[in-house]
Order: sequence, then C-alpha cells, then structure tokens
Amino acid sequence: MEAAAGRSNRMAQSRVARYTDPPAKNGQSSPPKTRFAAMSQPPPAKSDAAKPSAVEGFKQESHFLRGEIPEELLDENSFFGKGSIQLIKHHGSYQQDNRDERKAAREDGRGKAYSMMVRTKIPGGKFSSAQMLAELALCDEVGNATLRVTTRQALQLHGILKKDLKKTIRRINEVQASTLGACGDVNRNVMCCPAPLRGDPVHDELQQMADRLAEHFAPHTRAYHQIWLSEEPEGEKQLVGGDRDPFEVEPIYGAVYLPRKFKIGIALPTDNCVDVYSQDLGLLAIEEGSTIVGYNFLVGGGFGVTPTAKKTFPALAQPLAFVAPDAVIAVATAIVQVQRDFGNRADRKIARLKYLVADWGIEKFKAKVEEYYGKPLIDPKPLEVSQFDDHLGWCEQGDGKWFYGLNVENGRIKDEDGFRLKTALYEICESLGPPLRFTSHQAILFTDIEESDKPVFEEIFKRHGISLSEDISMVRRWSMACPAMPTCGLAVTESERALPGMMDALEVELKKLGLSDEIFTTRMTGCPNGCARPYNSDIGLVGKTLGKYTILIGGRCQGDRLNWIYKDLVPAGEVVQTLLPLFRYFKQDHKKNESFGDFCDRKGLENLTGWGEQNAST
Ligand code: SF4
Repeated sequence: MEAAAGRSNRMAQSRVARYTDPPAKNGQSSPPKTRFAAMSQPPPAKSDAAKPSAVEGFKQESHFLRGEIPEELLDENSFFGKGSIQLIKHHGSYQQDNRDERKAAREDGRGKAYSMMVRTKIPGGKFSSAQMLAELALCDEVGNATLRVTTRQALQLHGILKKDLKKTIRRINEVQASTLGACGDVNRNVMCCPAPLRGDPVHDELQQMADRLAEHFAPHTRAYHQIWLSEEPEGEKQLVGGDRDPFEVEPIYGAVYLPRKFKIGIALPTDNCVDVYSQDLGLLAIEEGSTIVGYNFLVGGGFGVTPTAKKTFPALAQPLAFVAPDAVIAVATAIVQVQRDFGNRADRKIARLKYLVADWGIEKFKAKVEEYYGKPLIDPKPLEVSQFDDHLGWCEQGDGKWFYGLNVENGRIKDEDGFRLKTALYEICESLGPPLRFTSHQAILFTDIEESDKPVFEEIFKRHGISLSEDISMVRRWSMACPAMPTCGLAVTESERALPGMMDALEVELKKLGLSDEIFTTRMTGCPNGCARPYNSDIGLVGKTLGKYTILIGGRCQGDRLNWIYKDLVPAGEVVQTLLPLFRYFKQDHKKNESFGDFCDRKGLENLTGWGEQNAST
C-alpha cells in the first residue's frame, strides 16, 4: 500500500504541473514562449483577512437564493440585475445576450438582446421520451428552436426571454425534471456511464449511486419552489430561514453555498466515458465479479483557466482514498464541506477545489477530510483507466433488447436544411417512446429497443437526413465543441460554429493519409474556460483571442493525461494546416497500436516542433 501511496503522490505532482511543463526530451527544457501560463508554483495561500468576492455578498444577502429575483420577474426589464444574474445560476439559468447582434444593437441604440439559457440537470443522463418532448416543445415555443445536449449529460435551452423564464422552468418541472443546481456554486449534474447494460448489475449500481449523490447534494432551499413553481404572487418575498441557523435550511451548504461550482463523475476503469479525472470529485468503481466493492475517490480535477491570471491552471483529479459503497455519501459530504469551509471565497478565479488541493497538497487535504468524516481514510487502490467507450451504434443490452447511440455533432439538436434531427426526435419520442440517455460526448442513446424495431429507427434517421453513427468519420465522431458564439458571454472565438468546417477539412486530409480509422479526441472551446474539456484530449483547440486558437496536443482518449501547448495564436484558417505535418509524422513513425496522443507524448515538444517547421504544409 505504501508503494501505491508513493505512486499516487508522483501522479499527483504530474497532474498539476503538466499543462505548463511540456515533456522535455533528451534533457532539454521547453521554450518558454510555448507555455500558456507559468504555473510552476501553487496558488498563494488564502488570506484569512481577504475580502469575500461580490458574488459571496449576493449569496449571503439572498436568503437562500431568493434575493431580488421575485421582484425582478415582475418588472418590465428584459434583463436581471447584478445580484440576480448570479443567483439565477443556482436555479439553472444564465443570462446571456446575442453577440451576433451586439454591434448593430449598439449602433441603433436598442441595447443588448438579452435572453436566458436554461439547463436541465439530468443525473447519469437518464431522460424519458415524455421529458424530451416537453423540452422540444419549449425550444420551439419560447427558445431559439434548438436544444443542446451538454458535455455533462444535461440539456440546454437557449434564447428564452426573461418573461418566459418562469413558464419554462415550471414546464420542465411538470415532467419531473429540474433545473435546480444545474449551474451555480453547488454540486452540478452528476455524471455517470449512461450505457443501459441491463445484464450487468454494475452499470445499474453506478446509476443508482449517481441518483443518490444528486439527491443528497441538491440544494434544500424552498426558494426554487416558491419562485418558479408556486401560484403565490411572484413579488411576495418569503424570508424562510433568514434568521435561523443556515444549516437547518441547507444542511450541507449553509447560507453562502460553495465558493464555486463542484462537479462529480462516476466511471469504471474499463470505461472512462465521463472523463473522471476532469471532475472535482471523481469516483472510479472497483469491481469484483459483478459487484462494486468500493470506489477510488479522486479529487481536484477541473479545467477552467484565466489566461491573464497565471495562478490558474487545468488539473487532473488525484487519488485520495478507497471508499466502500456504504461510506460514499459520508466521505463525499466531508469533501464538499472541506471545500465549503476552506475554498477561496475572495478570488473566484482560484476558488475551485483544485486550488485548495494544490495549495495544501493531497496529504493535508486528506487529513482535513478525515477530520470532517470522523475516521481515517483507506489509501486508494492501485488503479488506472484503461479504456473508454463512446457507446455509439447498435449495442445489445443484455436483456434481449438493444440500444442505439446516435452521434449529435456538438450536441446541437436542430432542423437545418436537409438535416432534421429535431423532427426525427419528435417522431421517435411520440411514436416509439424509448427511454433516452445522454452521453458526455453529447450523443443520445435510444434504449430498450426490440430487435424488430431496429430498422424503424434507422429508417426515421435516414428519412430526416441524419447520418448513422457508423457512417460518421472517426475524427468527427470523437470531436466536440462548446457553444461559444453567439450565446456565451465569455467566448473570444467561435467554437461550435467553427469546428464542423475544420472537421470537413480534416476528414479529407486524413483520408488522403490513410488515417481515417484512427481514434483521437479533438475538442474545441471558444475561450480557455475549458467547458468541452480540451486539456486532456489528443488535440485541444482553445480560443485565445479573436479568430485565433491555442493548439494543445499529447492528451488521449482515456483522459488521464493533460496535453501541452504545441502552437499558440494560430488563426482559424491555419489550424488544419498546422496539424497536418504532425499527422504525416505519425503516419510515418508511430508504433503498432500507438494512438496519436501517445505518439505526440512520446516524441515531445522539441521534436514535434522541429518536424513541424521542417515539414510545414504549403
Ligand atoms: Fe463559453 Fe468558454 Fe465555456 Fe466555451 S469554454 S462555453 S466560450 S465559457
């Protein structure tokens, strides 16, 4: 066990440093100009005297997430005030504005075109056809006529006007779904392998654990019900719990909730489809026979980065402890409470759990969790992720039925020209009604399908111009992008709207090279916040400034290794040409069964840079 602990510590060190410390080969260090941020030191220790951030003040004064939301829902404005903008996140909504219209709106004095994103929290990605029909109807009635499957197995509506927000949240709740805690400084959607393998009790157990964790960490405040679901006048403010012990109302979070968002994901070592190392708290299940005997708890993963703040960095979660199934909730609660009490509440840039773990070190963090839990923790078992599965195509469930995994490019459900995925979903959910599941790669699984119905599904997809997953190129199938423009207020470049064009070009070039069957992940984001998890992918494309991207390479599908910067500030039109020499090199020099990411990792930055310069595409 000592050896395992030592190994864990070594892994822990590499998991924070790697992003800024590209692998040096032949003893040479990497050129500093390629480093994205000089994060070689842990963030500064939190000062006890540091003033809490403005968001902390809004939460503190909000009486458990009410604030001015009830009054502002009644005013004529198309937008919320500063405090409510922060508070509505906890209710599952972000205020946004249409960035495509900003310039014209400014010029003709209209002001910003505000609308709300509404996110439904869907633990483990399990959703019924009836729930899907409700979301589809909402996107057409009050949204922008599209829906988006998120990278955390949730669903997003975009373009909801403020006047329609209450109706939207009510309608989602009417089909037994919820937006509470989908965003904000609380535990977010709990991710879990969505494969409905009925013959394997382990997958059922994982889903049950996801549901238990989701329920346990859901906010308890009555504000959600009172504001969105009750018939009471919206302006009537009820200060329930305002004068009482805050832990009576919110037994885990207290009055100011967490310092920042908190993410949980559950995976198997043989299938890391939920990117367990990217989570604040990752649970890696350990099986014996067909039973889960416990979980390795991994802590401190997270991908948000602020380029101007060198103290920020992406990190992979580190092994903390082995936890028996009946202790999962208690240990997870202790971890959340340690983050609640010691996470940075002064500077939101370094408020995620990963900074506390980096600041303290894993041993000190573990000791504090033990103190909160009240017992010593067992060292993590030696365990690594070996595989991943995107769950696409036809798969036998183990009970005589089938599920079909449909690739949804960048998660966007829409009707556009000959591609009518939204119409196909209406038809399938109305006429066939299969239970659905969403994957963390933004795909939809249609489940419990009889053998005889398989052709019916395929016919519907084809009739509506939807390519079957098996007909989609590997490079596109394993790609994903965050929404970015025009809805995300933080985007500095295009992402969802830019990646398909790059995929078109890459498909052509990879075919010419005979590399069409290679599996590697390409993930794009419109800013360094990393919502589409670009920092452990084989290829990461991260928006750095208008129209320019940072290209990162050296991660891999298993998600257990951070990538590193290959080139910075690459114009969108040059991204594919910049990658091509690397693919040619890979074709010529890769080992048997070596993936693109492993090849880049083995060659290292200097070698690849030298090759790239000598063999630049014309
Ligand atoms: Fe917005 Fe950046 Fe997240 Fe993309 S990565 S959705 S641009 S915050």
